[in-house]
Amino acid sequence: MSQNLFEELDDLYQDLILDHYRRPRNQQQVADPDICAEGHNPFCGDRVALQIKLEDGRVTQVGLQSHGCSITQASASKMTELLKDKTLEETVILSKLFTAMMQGKKLTEEELERLGEMKAFSAVCKYPIRIKCAVLPWNTLEDGVKHYRSGQKHR
Ligand code: ZN
Repeated sequence: MSQNLFEELDDLYQDLILDHYRRPRNQQQVADPDICAEGHNPFCGDRVALQIKLEDGRVTQVGLQSHGCSITQASASKMTELLKDKTLEETVILSKLFTAMMQGKKLTEEELERLGEMKAFSAVCKYPIRIKCAVLPWNTLEDGVKHYRSGQKHR
């Protein structure tokens, strides 16, 4: 991330993003996952691999290994915390909300509330090239969910 970007980010948001970048959560691979997906952002070489384990339709374990810039890694790390205990439907709603926020759409108070600390990334949307970095983990999640659901239909 460039120095300029950090200077413009609110201190609180900057701390949150740096904290998740330096100490990414849930990096361990989940064994025997129900959902598995990989994503790649050629613009800055970001890569994420995601595994999700479900129980009774809810997310019980998330593993996410990320490489690349601080925005991708922090977004991925924060996302793993938000997904726990959610239904797949809820994870997709969160993903759509986050993507809408990053595209500069105005969210309601209630929608922002659902995103919790992911709100910190809204400061990044001033930098169009970084938006791809922030949404990469979420796009990967949606791909994985889509793939999982299509597999279920064919069973
Ligand atoms: Zn990036």
